[in-house]
Amino acid sequence: MIYAIDENAQAKAPGPGGWRLEHSYAALPAVLHVAVGPTAVRAPRVVAWNRTLAEELGLDAEGLAGADGGGGAGAEIFAGNVLPPGSAPLAQAYAGHQYGHFTTLGDGRAILLGEQITPRGERFDVQLKGAGPTPFSRRGDGRATLGAMMREYVISEAMHALGIPTTRSLAVVATGEEVWRQDGARPGAVLTRVAASHIRVGTFEWVAARRDEAALRALVAYTVQRHYPERAGAENLPLALLEGVGERQARLMAQWMGVGFVHGVMNTDNMALSGETIDYGPCAFMEAYDPATVFSSIDRDGRYAYGNQPQIAQWNIARLAEALLTVLHPQEEQAIALANGVIGRFGEGFQRHWLAGMRRKLGLFNEEPEDGALVEALLAWMHATKADFTNTWAELETLAAGAEGELGVWRARWQARLARQPQGAEEAGRLRRANCPAVIPRNHRVEEALAAAEQGEVGVMERLLAVLAAPYDHARAGAADVAEYRGPAADGGEGYRTFCGT
Ligand code: AMP
Ligand code: MG
Repeated sequence: MIYAIDENAQAKAPGPGGWRLEHSYAALPAVLHVAVGPTAVRAPRVVAWNRTLAEELGLDAEGLAGADGGGGAGAEIFAGNVLPPGSAPLAQAYAGHQYGHFTTLGDGRAILLGEQITPRGERFDVQLKGAGPTPFSRRGDGRATLGAMMREYVISEAMHALGIPTTRSLAVVATGEEVWRQDGARPGAVLTRVAASHIRVGTFEWVAARRDEAALRALVAYTVQRHYPERAGAENLPLALLEGVGERQARLMAQWMGVGFVHGVMNTDNMALSGETIDYGPCAFMEAYDPATVFSSIDRDGRYAYGNQPQIAQWNIARLAEALLTVLHPQEEQAIALANGVIGRFGEGFQRHWLAGMRRKLGLFNEEPEDGALVEALLAWMHATKADFTNTWAELETLAAGAEGELGVWRARWQARLARQPQGAEEAGRLRRANCPAVIPRNHRVEEALAAAEQGEVGVMERLLAVLAAPYDHARAGAADVAEYRGPAADGGEGYRTFCGT
């Protein structure tokens, strides 16, 4: 297999700094990438450095972090001023459906340095986001603001701590340069994003739109090798890929829904084939429960509202199926039937994962047919009373204990249901606590940390990151220094808006 991944890569010794970069993506057909390097910036300064992730990647966390609070090796590398040894930078080509409309895109401001092989033999893309223009920049400047990159850093790391598959953030480096946005000059920054890969639904749409069947087949084979090796022996590789992606996305959507995450811009170019959450632009966590919750200022019709996310994921899977149609089966009718089978099963898969997650949040170990209705009744109460989603789940016992009215009635049902399983209250409580986060990145807390970081004060953000690193530690969540991160905004956060792609 031409595009097979080097299974012996981990045997190679790392270079200086712990870098072990490979370039399997660059071996794919040329329509998929363009060689381009980052553009140097004036005065790089590390604002955030993820030491734990650096260590997991096998990087010399200490040497690179010589950059902490100033210049140095890490600052130069993660700003794009100096290339790490063995890098071969490129921008990836892709297309995508944005708000339902097809467009060609590509990395307009992101540059892939290569794939780092970790000491455990895993392969991760290391990408600089905001590293300067590429042939895909269109009218954009190729840059990013410090606020937006810090936002991605904070939320992606929070998602990771919540146990949800996601791209990670290794570093944010302020560039010392200004970028111009609608609201004037903002401090610029480069984010180092680490991902299982950056292959998107839109990557397949790009190749399909060019009617390049050889490239499409190569991309299918590559993606299966890289993300679904357990399916590599399948007779119909494109179908196996489509099924795998459908299953992972169904699970991912259930995980998002379980913590109140609103991605905000689920365009097909922002859906990763690896099953990781990707592209933290206008995303935010819902506070008061309402399926219609939308934060993105440009999502006026609520296409990407909290409650729509599973259907949108299914819609995106349908776009992937369309892109794969010519290779799914030589006969179009049969190809469509295969595609429809996968698309049709998505809803079921999501529902199964969602209910399993909700059972855990309720402390239920076994299954009863009425469990779905029990969850729906609680959600209906939350909706009607505008209850805080996270805190209601986290404090359900105490909240419901003295409740009268609807919640009181619901509590009696829940208690009766708990009594019908062999596990006791203590075990149920433990299951609940492991599945109901005590802390999430509250919008006003994130904004406060970003504003401080823009002013050069990173302490606020570091404290927030420390709290977000242990979301299921309920014992610690009771302490005063964590408790202050648990309340919703004083004004209830109504009308909170996020802004995209800056
Ligand atoms: P997003 O909405 O962040 O997923 O971005 C959509 C597309 O716009 C991607 O192809 C980005 O690379 C591109 N893009 C976003 N911001 C910029 C920028 N400042 N300069 C160039 N391209 C950009
Ligand atoms: Mg994107």
